[in-house]
Amino acid sequence: MENCIFCKIVRGEIPSRKVYEDDDVLAFHDIQPQAPVHVLVVPKVHIASLYEADMSHQAVLGKMLALSGRLASEQGASDGFRTIINTGRVGGQEVYHLHMHVFGGPEPLGRMLSKRVTP
Ligand code: AMP
Ligand code: ZN
Repeated sequence: MENCIFCKIVRGEIPSRKVYEDDDVLAFHDIQPQAPVHVLVVPKVHIASLYEADMSHQAVLGKMLALSGRLASEQGASDGFRTIINTGRVGGQEVYHLHMHVFGGPEPLGRMLSKRVTP
């Protein structure tokens, strides 16, 4: 996709702090880390969100998950980590190129969602 920021990172048109790359996926440090370890894992192919994902993306989506433990350990999160894929408006997605966050700490990350009273 021409104007997609993560496609530009995949093509090398925007710099990133790369931690892993193969033919299918790229992983790099988030520019605004929200935890001591905060890496983004993206498919090289443009998929806007999980809504646009289908069975043709099964292998690359599986690869992203299968790599997460290794990437977390390599970045120093060897005592646990969290993966998040935000989807759409309700999910708080800001960049519409599917990406998996990998968060880790030395310390526990806290609640998964901020506390909210359900109606
Ligand atoms: P999300 O809210 O799930 O769409 O997350 C988008 C993430 O992309 C945010 O955590 C941003 O800090 C991160 N981000 C945006 N632009 C860049 C960039 N050029 N390099 C690395 N991370 C970025
Ligand atoms: Zn893209």
